Amino acid sequence: MAQYEKFEHDVLVIGAGGAGLRAAIEASAAGVSVGLICKSLLGKAHTVMAEGGIAAALANVDGRDNWKVHFADTMRGGQYLNNWRMAEIHAKEAPARVNELEAWGALFDRTNDGRILQRNFGGHKYPRLAHVGDRTGLEMIRTLQDHGIHQGLDVHMECTVITLLKDGDRIVGAFAYDRERGRLKIFHAKAVVLATGGIGRAYRITSNSWEYTGDGMALAYHAGAELIDMEFVQFHPTGMVWPPSVRGILVTEGVRGEGGVLVNKNGRRFMFDDIPELYRNQTADNPEEGWRYTQGDQNARRPPELLTRDHVARCIVREIKEGRGSPHSGVFLDIAWIKEKIPHAPERIKKKLPSMYHQFMALAGIDITKEPMEVGPTTHYMMGGIRVDADSQMSNVPGLFAAGECAAGLHGANRLGGNSLSDLLVFGKRAGEFAAQYAKTHGAGKLDEKQIEQAAAWALAPFERNQDGENPYKIQDELQDMMQDLVGIVRAQKEMERALEGIHRLKARAQKTGVSGNREFNSGWHTALDLFNLLTVSEAITLAAIERKESRGAHFREDFQAKDKNWGQFILVVRKSANGAMQIAREPLPPLPAELQQVVEEMK
Ligand SMILES: Cc1cc2nc3c(=O)[nH]c(=O)nc-3n(C[C@H](O)[C@H](O)[C@H](O)COP(=O)(O)OP(=O)(O)OC[C@H]3O[C@@H](n4cnc5c(N)ncnc54)[C@H](O)[C@@H]3O)c2cc1C
Repeated sequence: MAQYEKFEHDVLVIGAGGAGLRAAIEASAAGVSVGLICKSLLGKAHTVMAEGGIAAALANVDGRDNWKVHFADTMRGGQYLNNWRMAEIHAKEAPARVNELEAWGALFDRTNDGRILQRNFGGHKYPRLAHVGDRTGLEMIRTLQDHGIHQGLDVHMECTVITLLKDGDRIVGAFAYDRERGRLKIFHAKAVVLATGGIGRAYRITSNSWEYTGDGMALAYHAGAELIDMEFVQFHPTGMVWPPSVRGILVTEGVRGEGGVLVNKNGRRFMFDDIPELYRNQTADNPEEGWRYTQGDQNARRPPELLTRDHVARCIVREIKEGRGSPHSGVFLDIAWIKEKIPHAPERIKKKLPSMYHQFMALAGIDITKEPMEVGPTTHYMMGGIRVDADSQMSNVPGLFAAGECAAGLHGANRLGGNSLSDLLVFGKRAGEFAAQYAKTHGAGKLDEKQIEQAAAWALAPFERNQDGENPYKIQDELQDMMQDLVGIVRAQKEMERALEGIHRLKARAQKTGVSGNREFNSGWHTALDLFNLLTVSEAITLAAIERKESRGAHFREDFQAKDKNWGQFILVVRKSANGAMQIAREPLPPLPAELQQVVEEMK
């Protein structure tokens, strides 16, 4: 193994977004040596793009908020498929994690009396999102990074992990290549934390960055970990639709939180036409009440634009399908209208939504203080992922932990906006803490030379096939179109079966990709290896989506449009069978303890 560079760490964290950084900080504070790997440069992880804020029941803006309301909102949003223990821990611990971030130097927007300001967001009963304008992710990454580098972390940037290494059942490290030179690297570790984010690049239209190829989920799955909730892919209702080059880029829910309204081509606020029963009591039934809510009137109910993302996305699709959409197959999102209500509206919009103002001005030539935006759904977030223990974040593979978007359980069938950033902080910390504990109580396992040689041969095979192989970009392109068209917002049995057949065909072709040139910054080669992960997660999504014969949360089936009470008792688990095929099984949800059931009932 002399030809490989080798690194030793007690805990290896794969991913340097919010979850990975928070895990690395915690593990390091526990006194173990920590290595942190990321595909891009430190500070460039996807978390940096987060806009609207971090959900935590600090009750700074509305004193009625507390962990119980946050817990109930999260469970209702997830349509009660959530892992209740994760939802409980998350709601209880999020305020402490936000305060800690502030103590480490994060500069949040402020209330008049100097506390952390909180804003309204979809599905949250009270204003709950701690934020920094619409650039919260940037501040979060900056703070965690500043704090983290003083903990003595070893950072390996522009380095992609392609296989997890095992000794018998347990994890003992990872095998990777560096993107700059293409050198192969061995990371020997006592515990590994996966914090690799989501899967958006499996779809054509997405708000996600290039890094989101489902790596952590695929790595874990092939190492024997279980995946759950894979049918639940969140399509955010508001992405840019025009011009084509920017299609999918996110338009934050914060626009609606600040009073923005959705209208169709006839000028109708169509969200008032379809308010789900589950939310009727909490939703305004007239525009005036909705406006008062966004301005902090505690007696008003939220406008229907702030219903959960799954519902808003489907209403937008309906408007477009029925011919009431905007010129470029979207609908209109209007924040400029608030000038009818308040003085100095343009200044307020620019102050509260600076990135949105800049984004539309620079990319679409639209001044959002004067004109409405055109928006439509975009693939945004993965509720499903690696199954973990709620308290420790360890998967079913000993020594393998996961946190953040690549892990699953907290959000059930639909994530509420803002609940991801708090998820990263709460469960990133726990993953780091328990991984360090594991490393302290377990020796370093043995590396298996054969496994490493096989991984290296597999990684370099596309160079051997060279021009004779399949073009990896073409396969990725075909996969994205297929997932977008056949396993998208509205799903049906026959279409998904076609997708599954297509995925099997693409998998066979992906085994034969060829790339030319050398190993230095060879993006064709990177794509050839990423494809393996994209195809694994796409297969899991499609299998699970075929299996769940009902509509719930983000999973909507044209052929089973109703929610089925029976299906509300099960989650779907994907695992690799002994013969290497992907298997899917139903598993009953553990019952909600009486005291939490009471919380849910009280908050209805
Ligand atoms: C535009 C946008 C706005 C959003 N706004 C909000 C918001 O306001 N509030 C909210 O709660 N959520 C928001 N979200 C969602 C939230 O930002 C993400 O869910 C969250 O940042 C994911 O964090 P993470 O730590 O799990 O992963 P990431 O931040 O994506 O980090 C993943 C890391 O893993 C690394 N990695 C991946 N694969 C490999 C590999 N094979 N080898 C080595 N390293 C690897 C990457 O390089 C990266 O460092 C938003 C999402 C988008 C797209």
